[in-house]
Amino acid sequence: MLQTETNRASAAQAYVAEVFETVKRRNPGETEFHQAVKEIVDSLVPVFEKHPVYMEQGILERLVEPERLIHFRVPWTDDKGKVHVNRGFRVQFNSSIGPYKGGLRFHPSVNASIVKFLGFEQILKNSLTGQPIGGGKGGSDFDPKGKSDAEVMRFCQSFMTELGKYIGSDLDVPAGDIGVGGREIGYMFGQYKRIAGGNEAGVLTGKGIGYGGSLARTEATGYGCIYFVNEMLKSKGLSFDGSKVVVSGSGNVSIYAIQKATQLGATVVACSDSNGYIYDPTGIKFETVQRLKEVERKRISEYVNEHPTATYFEGCSGIWTIPCEIALPCATQNEIDADSARKLVANGVQAIGEGANMPSTLEAIDIFHANDVLFGPAKAANAGGVAVSALEMAQNSMRYAWSFHEVDDKLHAIMKNIYTSSVKAADEYGHPGNLVIGANIAGFLKVANAMLAHGIV
Ligand code: GLU
Repeated sequence: MLQTETNRASAAQAYVAEVFETVKRRNPGETEFHQAVKEIVDSLVPVFEKHPVYMEQGILERLVEPERLIHFRVPWTDDKGKVHVNRGFRVQFNSSIGPYKGGLRFHPSVNASIVKFLGFEQILKNSLTGQPIGGGKGGSDFDPKGKSDAEVMRFCQSFMTELGKYIGSDLDVPAGDIGVGGREIGYMFGQYKRIAGGNEAGVLTGKGIGYGGSLARTEATGYGCIYFVNEMLKSKGLSFDGSKVVVSGSGNVSIYAIQKATQLGATVVACSDSNGYIYDPTGIKFETVQRLKEVERKRISEYVNEHPTATYFEGCSGIWTIPCEIALPCATQNEIDADSARKLVANGVQAIGEGANMPSTLEAIDIFHANDVLFGPAKAANAGGVAVSALEMAQNSMRYAWSFHEVDDKLHAIMKNIYTSSVKAADEYGHPGNLVIGANIAGFLKVANAMLAHGIV
């Protein structure tokens, strides 16, 4: 008996190691994609030990290979008539539980590795929401920063002219991510409508409220992250009330995380953008950040001109040296490395909630776990955005709109459910309290069972 168990354990280890080696060989140099795969496959060893059928049916080697990767040219002209060429991507990773679903990122760093890491994460994140959505992601190395509205519009139209051939409300439903907000979604929706004809509202999410968007979609990722962290805190008798919080970033996720944390009684003492961070011991004012970033599209350094209690510091990583009980990395991948994690721990951090995708390196996560810091991994903690995107799709199909409170209540219930199913899976598979493993397993099982049911496809 003991011998059989040992054999099963080493077979599962060997299987995972072999699949990971294949991923590295087939996707050379794609370090972000390797990192996302590594984190997930290592968590799944106890699942393969307990259910060898997933190994026998090649679930993991199929899961790590995208169903389709689309790569295209995006030509556009700037306001002076100069021609530019950017790269467009869409990875349609896994459609076993629903249409491909995931955002578009417009940022100079976007390449195949970034899109694949995000798309791979999205498969299990979307599964965790309990909604019928598969995993996809896309984007471009176009930088909307500093571009005029007209330039952004021409870029979005050119991008959608190509992407539009591959998406549809039952096929693949893009949304926003870094660099893609309401303005970009509006231009892309307009161009899709023009090309495809008709008004297929469910082809994109994150739309404006006036043309098929969902109330509370704008707030969903930030609010959802706070709801998730709140569940983690409650499990240890802690709360946001009276706590000191650091939130990195100042985009869509950060803004609404700041608002909700403040509503729950926390003082958010810092936030940042890609140039630097602001520190305000009296609490960052959500309304100012929202206006500066979402309306005026200015830098976060401008905040100090309106609030003399705040100080601006150049550079981003210094934000993690600020003492806080709760840290919410909501900016971008790998923003917390081992050094930053050690500083947070030394300053007494109690909980981390990942609002961005993969903001902590694998070493940083190990440091948090080793020091008993509550750790809410991205695919669980930031799933609120895509969860409400799925609710937007549902409303579009019904041709009906729920109130803000109806959507917010559903979001709250979804985040609680993600928390409890992650805790339960972690317990069941022998890693109590480890939400990285719990979220990966809970998300994986639903996808793997659908793949089993569909045969080798
Ligand atoms: N970009 C968001 C994410 O990382 C939202 C995706 C969506 O709404 O489809 O989950």
